Amino acid sequence: MTMICLGMEGTAHTFGVGIVDTEGNILANVSRTYDPGMGGIHPREAAQAHAKNARAVVVGALEEAGISLGDVDLVAFSQGPGLGPCLRTVATAARALSAWLGVPILGVNHCVAHVEIGRLSEGAEDPVTLYVSGGNTQVIAFDAGRYRIFGETLDIPVGNCLDVFAREVGLPHPGGPKVEQLARDGKQYIELPYSVKGMDLSFSGLVTEAVRKYREGVKLEDLCYSLQETAFAALVEVTERAVAHTEKKEVMLTGGVAANRRLREMLGLMAEEHGAEFFVPPMSLCADNGAMIAWTGLLAYRHGVRQKLEETVVRQRWRTDEVEIPWRRSSPCR
Ligand code: AMP
Ligand code: MG
Repeated sequence: MTMICLGMEGTAHTFGVGIVDTEGNILANVSRTYDPGMGGIHPREAAQAHAKNARAVVVGALEEAGISLGDVDLVAFSQGPGLGPCLRTVATAARALSAWLGVPILGVNHCVAHVEIGRLSEGAEDPVTLYVSGGNTQVIAFDAGRYRIFGETLDIPVGNCLDVFAREVGLPHPGGPKVEQLARDGKQYIELPYSVKGMDLSFSGLVTEAVRKYREGVKLEDLCYSLQETAFAALVEVTERAVAHTEKKEVMLTGGVAANRRLREMLGLMAEEHGAEFFVPPMSLCADNGAMIAWTGLLAYRHGVRQKLEETVVRQRWRTDEVEIPWRRSSPCR
């Protein structure tokens, strides 16, 4: 029997609602993103924006899908990881909707959802995934029943590194696209701290040094270029080592930073050298979105995952490797 799931995403600055059915059809994917202006994301303000936008986004998604609320069989929501006030706002909305409709509710791990929607949309079976956004930086691959984190940032995520640099040099938020644009006119590589520690990454020293060099008068275009080259080389190195170790034949790039052409090029070249297929989902599915939550909620529900209301409490630090993945028993490439 086909089921329809309404998924709500709201771990950070984007509130999204996706409607997906068990065949994997994405019937709707609507979102609104809170714009913090020149500063960074203020969690409470983002949460208030979600509360304000929730109704319109839900209605918009129902219209896009051409269904009514009564057609919804399951409500899924982003339970974590993310910003506390944002998570609580979305969980409250999801609980209210599920109670009102009398349908089950399921909390979904945001990082797992990024991988699952990419597998659905791109047809990737068993990729090593580089997930890079404003809030997360992880190299993820499936092994022994779970999505394992092969490498991650030890301090700030790479998107945040670009955003902080941009803010410190007077560029508007979000910094990533602006840095990418300026980097195209960069001519000279300026040495910046390259920080891979074991399989993990660090970006805070990189951003501090880049800002210091800017204040010393180094040309902004050269710095943007060098910042990208340095940060992305570190990301590609760790992903490459995960590919070599797991011997997987697919590489996927997702998260908001996946918009970056230079990162796509570098990661794509690495995949090619390893004879691996390279996937980047469309940006509507790379960015935070409700469809990924709905789809992952359906996968979990159909494989027997259930939650009591008290288990829907938000999990700000919910790690990717804590999630049971009953819909993937084994890794087809191993
Ligand atoms: P997300 O956290 O997934 O919503 O993605 C937002 C992050 O992606 C922010 O840190 C942006 O600066 C970053 N971003 C967006 N577009 C680009 C781009 N073209 N290059 C690098 N980073 C980007
Ligand atoms: Mg995300």
